[in-house]
Amino acid sequence: MKSIFVVLFAILSLSINAQDLCGTEDPETHTMPSQKDIQAEILRLQNADKMEPRIFMVTAHIIKSSTGNFGLSQTQFEEAMAKMNADYAPMNIRFELCGDVNEIRNTAYVTVDAEEAPYLVADFNVPNTINIYFIPNVLNGNGDNICGNANFTSTNKSSRRIFMQNNCVSNGSTLSHEMGHFFDLLHTHSTFYGPELVLRIGCENSGDGFCDTPADPRLSGLVNGACEYTGTEVDEFGIAYEPDPTLFMSYSLKECRTVFTPEQQAMVSLTASGANDYLFSECVELDFVLQDEGESIKVESFADAEGSFTIQSIAQLNSYDVSYEVAALDKWGGETVVDAGSVLVDAGDEVEVGFSLPFDDNFYRYEKIRIKLDEGNSWIETDEENNEIVLGIDHNYVREDAVLIFPQPAADELNIYLNRPGFSDVEIRVYNNSGQLVIEDSFRKTLSIFNKAYDVSNFLSGVYYIVIQHDTGDVETAKFVKI
Ligand SMILES: [Zn+2]
Repeated sequence: MKSIFVVLFAILSLSINAQDLCGTEDPETHTMPSQKDIQAEILRLQNADKMEPRIFMVTAHIIKSSTGNFGLSQTQFEEAMAKMNADYAPMNIRFELCGDVNEIRNTAYVTVDAEEAPYLVADFNVPNTINIYFIPNVLNGNGDNICGNANFTSTNKSSRRIFMQNNCVSNGSTLSHEMGHFFDLLHTHSTFYGPELVLRIGCENSGDGFCDTPADPRLSGLVNGACEYTGTEVDEFGIAYEPDPTLFMSYSLKECRTVFTPEQQAMVSLTASGANDYLFSECVELDFVLQDEGESIKVESFADAEGSFTIQSIAQLNSYDVSYEVAALDKWGGETVVDAGSVLVDAGDEVEVGFSLPFDDNFYRYEKIRIKLDEGNSWIETDEENNEIVLGIDHNYVREDAVLIFPQPAADELNIYLNRPGFSDVEIRVYNNSGQLVIEDSFRKTLSIFNKAYDVSNFLSGVYYIVIQHDTGDVETAKFVKI
């Protein structure tokens, strides 16, 4: 009962207080494109009407009470989307609804404050779409009603969203204003880049980072019904502000805000193709599933071991370049990346990827193979858990022989693997078919499995004999064929 009372009270108070502000605060980190890139983008956008628009998928969540009250109407939603699309058309951007409107009937979310917000988002955000929540009451950290707020691109992708308070949806500007934040526009009165001077000195490095948005003292309460600035404030030089009350990103009256400047439009367009390029242009559910061919890789000969895995795409549309990494793990926690790359996977398709485990000095230490997909989280998937598998390595050849010679026959390099437990001082002698000594070597064997490689590229073809003497008294013999 108490919550219903609070809701009713809040809704009543909203009709009186139509000045609810935007709750989006400056981000902790923010990046501006260079003025050169902005100017180039302004020129490019002059032909926006001749280009294919960048479409963004929107997931709309309309929150109602458990009994279905207080929700935004479908008509209000559609009109707001149409208005926003008109505002963003000069930026060559279009917003389309992905699926049906998601109606959330839960009285607990009729009022969303800063504490509840993460739970709402965690429960309902649809990855790779712009999630807009239409909420009867949105409160900031102080418990004040706000018209809306949004996350900049520096926010974790999976938690980005726009909150809209229902009574601000149809005011003509708040939705486009919040979407501006979503594309990294700051308020025109922002001092993220330092105080801004009316004379526009160093404008690209002050205020909101733009040179075509006038210095703005923050317009709340300083704009009259004719959309004229009525303030008398002065900047650091004592010069009176001449802000522009028509700008969407200002705190002017809601109905006065109708303009994104060319630089702001360029910024939005650059952010759309840059930090927001992970957002879908079509309505898809995306998942990459990593499948292995077996539980372990069997190694039975002295050559690079071969393995493979399959990447399956659960998507209705589009091809994706999926990155993978294959690492060999040893029993001491060491890991060596033995293969990495990316492969194009079509919607609904499966691609088999082969890899090899190099037969090198560390070969015997490797115990497992770990395969990972999309380690950089380029894609937000419906399930990230299926992006990693670990395979065993089945070394089932080294146990039998004390000495292993590889390769057989040898052309350029001869490897001698000593597979006798414990340390020993070792002498190796290699003789040709005439009994002449062609290799003589001595060393301390410090590992259970110890590899020595010799250059035999200049040896004549034929059979060679190897004698291995340990200071423990053990002697091993072997032979190899040189080709
Ligand atoms: Zn704002």
